[in-house]
Amino acid sequence: MTRIYDEDLAGGLATRAIHAGQRPDEVSGAIMTPLYLTSTYVQESIGVNKGYEYARGKNPTRQALERNVATLEGGRHGFAFSSGMGCLDSIMKLFRAGDHIVCAENVYGGTFRLFDRILRHLGLSFSYVDTSDPQRVAEAMTPATRALLVETPTNPLMRLTDLRAMSDIAKRHQALLIVDNTFATPVFQRPLELGADIVWHSTTKYINGHSDMIGGLAVVLEDDLADRLQFILNAAGAVPGPFDAWLALRGTKTLPLRMKQHDINGRAVANFLLGRLGEERVIYPGLAHHPHHELAKQQMSAFGGMMTLELGSIDNARRFLERVRVFSLAESLGGVESLTNHPYSMTHGSVPADVKQAMGLTDGMVRLSCGIEDTEDLIADLEQALEGL
Ligand SMILES: *Cc1c(COP(=O)(O)O)cnc(C)c1O
Repeated sequence: MTRIYDEDLAGGLATRAIHAGQRPDEVSGAIMTPLYLTSTYVQESIGVNKGYEYARGKNPTRQALERNVATLEGGRHGFAFSSGMGCLDSIMKLFRAGDHIVCAENVYGGTFRLFDRILRHLGLSFSYVDTSDPQRVAEAMTPATRALLVETPTNPLMRLTDLRAMSDIAKRHQALLIVDNTFATPVFQRPLELGADIVWHSTTKYINGHSDMIGGLAVVLEDDLADRLQFILNAAGAVPGPFDAWLALRGTKTLPLRMKQHDINGRAVANFLLGRLGEERVIYPGLAHHPHHELAKQQMSAFGGMMTLELGSIDNARRFLERVRVFSLAESLGGVESLTNHPYSMTHGSVPADVKQAMGLTDGMVRLSCGIEDTEDLIADLEQALEGL
């Protein structure tokens, strides 16, 4: 477990992103956190060591990243994992057979797959509900419910969930509120401040931001919960290698700066597409017609670079995806480079067709992750790609 240093809470978000969790190296004064490539640590005597015994439990490079992201989320303890899914799988080990979890219905496809294809068979039960409606969430809670798990905005339908309302419901039932904050990042949304118990990320996406590693990270405020997560982290061992932690730590230094440009590009691209395709076909929480625009303005400090377009048919989607040049057709999101994908067959390929239909995910949809290239180049690329339809 990595508890943050109190002094890391000083300063604004950009300052903390660059400095929190990092101290000049004691040996040399190196300003950048060294890459600790070691599996074990020499001990002076039985039980006498510098707080490090074996690197599954703790690694100083990893700890710097954990402190850094915990600070950005306004939490006190961070836990880095080998992937977003490894992180969620470890979080779910807080529960035991017979426990019931209420989960948002349009979560990341891999989250649904982990629950439906693996954890369900281990005795956890799940109810999937539309968490944009707090009433439905309240109705889904049972005496066995131990957690409420949401993602906002959702992938790829960009629906929002009211985190304060979720926190009230979870508290009433003594359930943990677990929030996937991968899309918004702590720059635009801080779930712990709205009552969440655990915030987690696929650091593969915006936190690292350069599409060159896979990782996950969870942040909590409460000490008891942190002890339990540290136990799981060490016992189950889904930890990242130090180099991936180091890359993500380099990434967080520019997170606030990158998010600003993702948001500038997101807004400009959404407005351009609105003019081209009309309200029905552009799903972006920053547009006034979006059903959760008011909540987005309240709960998030900006809207970011993610959006989904309805192109009407899989043939149109295919033509569009084959024509883009600055945007690349690829899984993933949140990197400096612009990406686009086909959620129906890619991120949500493992979700059954009837479930996709129920959540409103069609095969004519394409998702955009607007990078931080020049705004005009992104718009020109989309313009030429749409001409082909
Ligand atoms: C990618 C992603 C995940 C899974 O993370 P990995 O690092 O790919 O394991 C979870 N949630 C969201 C919202 C994601 O985009």
